[in-house]
Amino acid sequence: MVDDEPKNLLALEAVLESLDLDLIRAHSGTEALRCLLKDDVAVILMDVQMPGMDGFETAALIRTREKNRNSPIIFLTAVGKTETEMFRGYEVGAVDYLLKPFSPEILRSKVRVLVELKQKSDEIEFLNQRLKEANADLERRVHERTASLEERSKDLDRSNQELAQFAAVASHDLQEPLRTLSTYLQLLEKNSPGIFKDESRQFFEIVLDSAKRMHQLINDLLSFSQVGGGERRLEKVDCALLVNKILAELKELIEEKGATISVGVMPALPAEPILLTQVFQNLIGNALKFHSGPGAKVEVSAEDRGYAWVFKIKDNGIGIDAEHFDTIFKLFKRLHSRDEYSGNGLGLSICKKVVERHGGEIWVESTPGLGSTFYFSIPCKG
Ligand code: ADP
Repeated sequence: MVDDEPKNLLALEAVLESLDLDLIRAHSGTEALRCLLKDDVAVILMDVQMPGMDGFETAALIRTREKNRNSPIIFLTAVGKTETEMFRGYEVGAVDYLLKPFSPEILRSKVRVLVELKQKSDEIEFLNQRLKEANADLERRVHERTASLEERSKDLDRSNQELAQFAAVASHDLQEPLRTLSTYLQLLEKNSPGIFKDESRQFFEIVLDSAKRMHQLINDLLSFSQVGGGERRLEKVDCALLVNKILAELKELIEEKGATISVGVMPALPAEPILLTQVFQNLIGNALKFHSGPGAKVEVSAEDRGYAWVFKIKDNGIGIDAEHFDTIFKLFKRLHSRDEYSGNGLGLSICKKVVERHGGEIWVESTPGLGSTFYFSIPCKG
């Protein structure tokens, strides 16, 4: 409340008393400016005619302050002022103009509305501030999280590479003494025919077979550790050619099993040829292997699903119980002893790793005793 007349200030105070507000009195424009330095106000009620700095000049100065740029000002002035003067009031940012003698009721309701407005905008400002802080906090946490994830992914890459390197070196070094062992055993037999008889012959065969299996295991472990290493090098792979090549390599086994193989129309698609070969080799190999008795039948086909090609390797072998549909894709998981069916339980793990590296999926459907169908998808766009 700014007025040079103490009695006017008293009158204003009496009118506003029932609103239960903090009322600040100023007897001049200068005093009003000083009050605004320390107090935050909801509304300024200001007399126009004051000695020294009048209401309009005070208002103009108030508006120059950032903090009070939008503080509402109601000018209080005597009747009989010209329109130009009222216009001046609006120009310096008056929100209202009340002519004396004003109605207490009207003044009270105007002040009440402006105070409520101030409270609401303070609340919004407070919430806004909280929101900004929360946002900044969130951004900082996302940033920290991303940085730590990037760091972890780099660590993982590094340790994967080290592991692949280790596997490569270890398998190379392990193959060497293994080869020496097999070679010398065979030389021993060749140079001294008949040296292994009866039981010792059996032992000789077991040692030779173990060396062969170890050789296969090391090779498969190496294949497994190499999938996923380095950048993907996609090439257009003609799957018909690829499958025919594999069938030619498996010729002996196919004849031995008396198996019939049919191959449907195969696509050419972007893939890593060596890795895709391993998938077909393992799946067709398994389809032939896990069959007891004559009449093995294997169907290889492919279906265009638009986004991907889905390959299907169907056999009429021993089948798989549904409870093992997921576990057979895990490392070293086998459902039979080696005496029943040869193998080391790495084939399907390699297939899964290769297919996932291509962005596809691998799964199986099967009925024990009736056969299994392995599916895998390879996205058309690589
Ligand atoms: P391996 O063939 O060396 O045993 P795989 O990882 O290729 O290892 O297969 C894991 C297991 O899944 C096999 O030991 C076998 O029990 C089961 N399996 C895989 N393919 C077939 C199939 N076509 N028919 C029946 N069982 C299968």
